[in-house]
Amino acid sequence: MVGLVVKNTGSWYQVKTDMGELFECKIKGHFRMQEIRSTNPIAVGDYVEFEKNDDGTAMIHAISDRKNYIVRRSSNLSKHSQILAANLDLVTLVVTINYPETSTVFIDRFLATAEAYRVPACIVFNKIDRYSESEMEYLVGLENLYHLLRYPVFKISALLSENIEELITFLSGKTTLFSGNSGVGKSTLINAIAPHSLAKTGEISSYHNKGMHTTTFSEMFELLSGGHIIDTPGIKGFGTIDMEVAEIGHYFKEIFEFSKDCKFANCTHVHEPDCAVLHAVDKQYISTSRYQSYLSVLKDCNEGKYR
Ligand code: GDP
Ligand code: ZN
Repeated sequence: MVGLVVKNTGSWYQVKTDMGELFECKIKGHFRMQEIRSTNPIAVGDYVEFEKNDDGTAMIHAISDRKNYIVRRSSNLSKHSQILAANLDLVTLVVTINYPETSTVFIDRFLATAEAYRVPACIVFNKIDRYSESEMEYLVGLENLYHLLRYPVFKISALLSENIEELITFLSGKTTLFSGNSGVGKSTLINAIAPHSLAKTGEISSYHNKGMHTTTFSEMFELLSGGHIIDTPGIKGFGTIDMEVAEIGHYFKEIFEFSKDCKFANCTHVHEPDCAVLHAVDKQYISTSRYQSYLSVLKDCNEGKYR
């Protein structure tokens, strides 16, 4: 039988068939992924083949090729990584200007990582019902910035269901991974767009033992309008993947565009002469906040944070 993995608890997987039947599956034997070593070789969003046992359980014995997947490093020290989700059409970052404050560095790291994974990204600004006039002005500035970079932006109130309909329309038919710092209203939003999902709101993040790989799980919910959303409780963003210093500029769209005119092909856009990126920052063709985010990722890479 074939089905879609809709839930991963770390020790077993829930698989849904085309007919909507659900099976609790374990993995048969040992899967080896060629590209990455993973403690969880199967992820939510994977299409798998499985066999039913007489006792009602089932065994997964094959997995279909993925069009993409998102990985989370288990820890800096460990080379093991966890596949959070596979076969995504979109990753959505839920952020708040305030309550809690989200930094543009956090947003830009998320976007750069999505670029590296080659998954389209969008930003949802939540809690617009709570913002002061100046916070709204700041938000509109960010909206314009990311809009120019061709990232879809939504301004919503999950609590009051403001502008939720246009977001639902945008998500329909897609498989979307949701990310966001805790407290931004990700669960409230998921409940608003997939009321049958039973995502828990206001829950204090459960205890995380960094050495364990079983504490996080992902779950997929069906949207009434078609498509799926994937929630990864306890995961803020998907972090920054291993990037080579020379690559980082590729994942900031506008930096990449300008970098084509840098004098040196291996320009890092920090101190080099005739750097078209620095020139563009100077002329404000590239926003200061985006350039600062670029520098921040570059700094972490130089310090070997992702290795
Ligand atoms: P999560 O940690 O991102 O899943 O956040 P929750 O969904 O649990 O929400 C955290 C808090 O923010 C709760 O008290 C929610 O009621 C509140 N909240 C969520 N969305 C909104 C919103 O649009 N406006 C306001 N004012 N509060 C919200
Ligand atoms: Zn340069």
